[in-house]
Amino acid sequence: MLEAPFPELDEFLTVIGEAGYRLSEIEASEGAAGNISIYIGWPIDVRRRFPLVETIQLPEAAPELAGGTFLVTGSGRRLREVIEDPVANLGCVTVEADGRTGQLYTSPRRLFERLTSEFNSHLAVHHDQVIQVGTNFHAVVHAQPPHLTYLSHIPRYHDENYLNRHLLRWQPELIVQLPEGIGLVPFKIPGSSDLMTATLESLRKHRIVVWGKHGVMARSDVSVKRAADRIEYAETGAHYEYMNLVNHEQGEGLSAEEIRAVAKSWNLAQSIF
Ligand SMILES: [Zn+2]
Repeated sequence: MLEAPFPELDEFLTVIGEAGYRLSEIEASEGAAGNISIYIGWPIDVRRRFPLVETIQLPEAAPELAGGTFLVTGSGRRLREVIEDPVANLGCVTVEADGRTGQLYTSPRRLFERLTSEFNSHLAVHHDQVIQVGTNFHAVVHAQPPHLTYLSHIPRYHDENYLNRHLLRWQPELIVQLPEGIGLVPFKIPGSSDLMTATLESLRKHRIVVWGKHGVMARSDVSVKRAADRIEYAETGAHYEYMNLVNHEQGEGLSAEEIRAVAKSWNLAQSIF
C-alpha cells in the first residue's frame, strides 16, 4: 500500500528499468526471459508517454481493478534494455468499468506486438492481492535465477520445508528479508492456468515463489525493486547452497537456534526454523 503523494509515471518507468537491469546483472534474465508488471490503483494519466490506444480483452475478468492501471513489459523484450527506453518496452493497460476489457496505451516507439505471455499470471496475482488485502499498489516480477532454478531440478528440494531450511541458513539477513519463506510450485506449463492458480495461492502465504524447473515469481506492495530484491536474496541463498553441494557439503550454515535468535532480535514471526 502506498500513501500520497504518489510516485509519478516517470518514476515508475525508471524503477522498472532499474529493477530489470539488476535482474540481468545477477543473470536472472537471459535473452528475453523474465517479465515485470505493476498495478497502480489511483488515477494516473499515461497518454503523454503512451499516446496510441487500442482495446484489448483482459486474460481474466477483474472488476475489482476497474479504473486501475498496469505497466507491463512487452513480449520478447529484454529486461536489461527496458532502462534504455522504458516506453518502447512497456505497455500500459487501464481496466475498463466492466473489468473484462482494457485500453492498451503504447508509445510510437513500441518494440513489441503483445504484452508478455505471462500477463495472465501477473494479472491474477495482482487481482488476488487487491481482493485479499485491498492494496492500491502491487508489483510482480518473474525471473529465472540459475541457482534457484537448478536446485528445483533436484528432487529433495521439491519439499518446501526442506528448500527453506536449506536456503535461508546461509546469511542472517535471509530470514529477515524472507520471514514467510519461499513458496514452491511444481513444474507446470508456462503461461498455463494451472501455473496461474498455483502461483496466486502460494503468493498469499509467501512473497516469492519458485516455479519448479523454470524460475521464480516475486511480489511487493511497496515497490518493484523490493520484489526484485526478494529474488536476489533467494538466489543468494540458493547460490550458497549450490556452492556447498559442490564443496561436499562442508559448510554448516547458521543453526536453527542461531536463526531463531536473529528472528527474535528483529521481533520477526517466522515458522520455518
Ligand atoms: Zn519464464
